[in-house]
Amino acid sequence: VSTVQVAVPAPLRYALVYRSDPDSQTPVVGARVLVPLRNRTVLGVVAAATASAQPKLKTIAQVLDTEPAITPEIFRVASWCSDYYHHALGEVLQTALPGYLRRAVPLPPPREFRYRATDRGARSVDSLPTGATVQRRVLEALVNAGSDGLSGEAARQLTTRSADVLRRLEAREFLQRDEVPINCVPLEGREHPPELTAAQAEAVEGIGGTASYATFLVNGVTGSGKTEVYLRLLADVVEHGRQGLLLVPEISLTPQLIERLRRRLSGRLAVLHSGLTDRERHRAWWLARQGDADIVLGTRSAVFTPLPRLGMIIIDEEHDLSFKQQEGFRYHARDVAVKRAQLKNIPIVLGSATPSLESLGNVERGRYQEVRLPDRTGEASLPTVHLVDLGRDAIRTRLGRREQVLVFVNRRGFAPVLYCVDCSWHSGCHRCDARMTLHRRSRQLRCHYCGSSIAMPSRCPQCGGEDLRPLGEGTQRVEEALAHQFPDARIVRVDSDVASGKGRLEETFQRVRRGEVDIVVGTQMVSKGHDFPDVTLVCVVNADGGLFSLDFRAPERLSQQLIQVAGRAGRAERHGEVMIQTLFPAAPQLIRLQRHDYNGFAAEEMRERREAHYPPYAYLVLLRAESVRADDALRFLTDAAVAGKPHLEACADGAVSLMDPVPSPMERRAGRYRAQLLVKATRRESLHRFVRDWLASCERLPLARRVRWAIDVDPTDMV
Ligand code: ADP
Ligand code: ZN
Ligand code: ZN
Repeated sequence: VSTVQVAVPAPLRYALVYRSDPDSQTPVVGARVLVPLRNRTVLGVVAAATASAQPKLKTIAQVLDTEPAITPEIFRVASWCSDYYHHALGEVLQTALPGYLRRAVPLPPPREFRYRATDRGARSVDSLPTGATVQRRVLEALVNAGSDGLSGEAARQLTTRSADVLRRLEAREFLQRDEVPINCVPLEGREHPPELTAAQAEAVEGIGGTASYATFLVNGVTGSGKTEVYLRLLADVVEHGRQGLLLVPEISLTPQLIERLRRRLSGRLAVLHSGLTDRERHRAWWLARQGDADIVLGTRSAVFTPLPRLGMIIIDEEHDLSFKQQEGFRYHARDVAVKRAQLKNIPIVLGSATPSLESLGNVERGRYQEVRLPDRTGEASLPTVHLVDLGRDAIRTRLGRREQVLVFVNRRGFAPVLYCVDCSWHSGCHRCDARMTLHRRSRQLRCHYCGSSIAMPSRCPQCGGEDLRPLGEGTQRVEEALAHQFPDARIVRVDSDVASGKGRLEETFQRVRRGEVDIVVGTQMVSKGHDFPDVTLVCVVNADGGLFSLDFRAPERLSQQLIQVAGRAGRAERHGEVMIQTLFPAAPQLIRLQRHDYNGFAAEEMRERREAHYPPYAYLVLLRAESVRADDALRFLTDAAVAGKPHLEACADGAVSLMDPVPSPMERRAGRYRAQLLVKATRRESLHRFVRDWLASCERLPLARRVRWAIDVDPTDMV
């Protein structure tokens, strides 16, 4: 019998073997198939064709693809991910597939059309026979839509018989039908590029002259022209008939960036991000896979886009946390991209003004080549940074000069919490160990971890006292305080509450750029990728949160955030200023930031990490567990630690050590109790060997089925 191994979407560490239908051809590796699994039918991917003598195999229900949905290149990347992240291949492959293809639909996207009324159609609306009401309604809608016409989707909403009606109208030449290539932005490449600075030219030459695998870290201050370097490199890639993959954090995928690519490059651009519908994403993916897109611009999961002519990968803002998936298959898109480049033997470029210490560690070890862009281009100088108690006068001066001010609220741990002056009651979430934050407009208390919300109480639930006050500095409070202080200023707030309305974020940013706003109050969301040429003053409220934190990465995050936000000031000809509000103006970290010395900060921080045996001088794996019953998670981890001891000895080289299991810093979340167990290692190979054996033992533990548990390789979030 001809049999195949199928990777199914289930937490299994092995592919399952099925018999292929004797009447049809054996499916190719990478093809999607429907297979029976227990009492369901699931969509899996063929992992290998094998010969097996097992008699009682189940048969594949349906082969969906004649060519691989997962191309051989992506298959290799996914297999590596499955090994490296110790995650089921079937689940990795589901992540690599566009959502649309996780259903039993054909591989190529259905064709889509746009319909426009012809002149003849426009002249004939009134002469259609009165009996043809539906035709008339559709034709009228088309005429009203003018030269833009209607999408197939819009036409389908007009009548249930749209296919039939449209066909008839077309037969009478009343309408014209054009196939739409959605998601493909034609690039114009008309704009004349600026002359490169010496540092940029050196970077472009060094990287562009590399034909085989190498990882470059472009370490350049904000405004030093990193994006310009990417544009040159991508133009060169396209000119040589290859495809370029540009990955950015969700937050910096802005229309401005697309516009810059459009003006400068030629060819076709496909954009892949989470804001698209499944259908749109699939179409963009298809263009890339067919080799029809020259540049693919996307966020995290776009790292799995099949690109037959791939010539270079660029990761902008490589330090950004959003490249790491924090649920399920916890991969880091940057690290996957580096592996992909290595397998494909092409160069990869990581860029940042504030590189992650992991990447700097790889530079130190000679694995990555560092390229520095130390200066801002042209006239723009780095802003002057002051460590102060928030300066009211500085804001007033800017407003008087009709310049813009950006007030950055570092909200981590500083959301406004309601508390009672009489008995010091705090608004806690009943399902998590978290404070609920106050949302004044909606008069609600909301938990940012589990989403619970309750109406804001008017009296203290504990003592009945009436003096309830907000504590902490949320964006809303800062906005209110500024409005009170500067009643004539036009203020906008940018945070996740505002941004959840689709399109509103970009609309707000456009108002800022048009000069219709005087003060922008915002969170992380304003700190990246957006160019506000008229902002000359940036104020940072409450910078201190990151100075004292349990997470060993907190100082790195704080520095990255402050440097990024400071980079928003004075990007045009006017000099910018930054005011950082702190209770600790003598903290060495802040003083280095004042000098824009991220690299100095990083060097000092690396020394501390080396001494404490933390990444990049050690490798971490976190075993996370959560349970409904209070002690199960911790007990499971305690058992897991015991089960790990013999494997530790078997690895026998002392390179791996198990810490004690502990409750997570936020123990209760959404009603579940969470605990974690940290594994530290000095050598990666030993770590992976250990984890593989250890997980197999963990699966056999009595509590393994009662507790939700998962392994997180290279964890970035320890909370
Ligand atoms: P980064 O990505 O490092 O923040 P950008 O590439 O966006 O920097 O460059 C910052 C600004 O300087 C942009 O407005 C860009 O158009 C301009 N710029 C970049 N390189 C040059 C150059 N060689 N000559 C003149 N202007 C440049
Ligand atoms: Zn009280
Ligand atoms: Zn909660």
